[in-house]
Amino acid sequence: MSAYDEATTGGCESEPVSVIECRGLTKVYHGSGHGTQVCALDDVSLRVNSGTIIGLIGPNGAGKTTFLSLVAGLIFPTQGSIRVCGHPARSLEARRSLGYIPESPVFLSRYTARGVLKHHAALHGLSRRAIADQADRLLAQLRMEEYADRAVGGFSLGMRQRLALAVALIDSPRLLLLDEPSNGLDPIGVIELRRILTEVRQSGATIIISSHRPGELERLTSDYVFLHQGRIVQFGSEEPAGRIERLQIEFLPEGPRVEEQTLAPYRSLETSETKLTVAVGGVQDVPNVVNSLVKAGVRITGVMLERPDVERTFVRLYEERSS
Ligand code: ATP
Repeated sequence: MSAYDEATTGGCESEPVSVIECRGLTKVYHGSGHGTQVCALDDVSLRVNSGTIIGLIGPNGAGKTTFLSLVAGLIFPTQGSIRVCGHPARSLEARRSLGYIPESPVFLSRYTARGVLKHHAALHGLSRRAIADQADRLLAQLRMEEYADRAVGGFSLGMRQRLALAVALIDSPRLLLLDEPSNGLDPIGVIELRRILTEVRQSGATIIISSHRPGELERLTSDYVFLHQGRIVQFGSEEPAGRIERLQIEFLPEGPRVEEQTLAPYRSLETSETKLTVAVGGVQDVPNVVNSLVKAGVRITGVMLERPDVERTFVRLYEERSS
């Protein structure tokens, strides 16, 4: 299977056109020294189908911003091609299909949040009525009403990011690109971001979020693209064969002792008087384990399946490539 075939994801099999399709994408920058060059992206081929939230993960300098900028049509590739919703990147149709949120959004400081939104809605060619309606809708969706008529100059980074997200959502894009969106957000801001992005995904949009802290993306993304030194190291939610997940079960202490055969064919990793950790292959195994325990008379008080640790996978992949 070619790298191109492997690098495919997305939730909608029947979608005729990929949201992103790039082939042999390479970007070489001129370095700071005379005649030096930096290869930020090296022959990346990738196809993204609709309806997913994808985490674009890699250490500093891996090429994440370069990739997002190429998809957004902000820079030219040195080699290769990119199509967004079937249109060449940089075409008007491609630009209309996407919203892009840079790492550190900047706005004219004397504009209010509402003013920024109206300005961008006008650039999208909306009618006077639609401009006002869109501004109101987005201020409500992003819970920014309180800040609507305040000058952006006084906004925290988190509020500016929220405003940038509102701007990116003006035309209900099919593809949303976010470069390190949780930088500068406090924990409440991260929860809010999750809420908003989940809503956006439910509307059918595809979202790509870059981060060098993969743990932040857990419970939000369904697939991952790992980038390292400008190349895709691993793609997709599939984990290496033999992966196990940890199922934690809490129970009342006065029940029967849990024997190995009660759990078979599953294996217990840790046991205590009130807690058991079982190695399972995934969520499909949870009912089997719970049924076996209930049949054996165990009085369960809590069940939790630990998600695969993206952070650990990322560090392992990074170390393998660096050694
Ligand atoms: P970070 O997590 O630090 O934002 P990143 O994964 O987004 O990093 P990029 O910003 O895409 O990585 O950079 C990839 C490589 O390209 C780095 O070595 C960077 O120094 C280099 N680079 C990026 N932009 C330019 C530019 N305009 N001119 C020269 N080199 C650049």
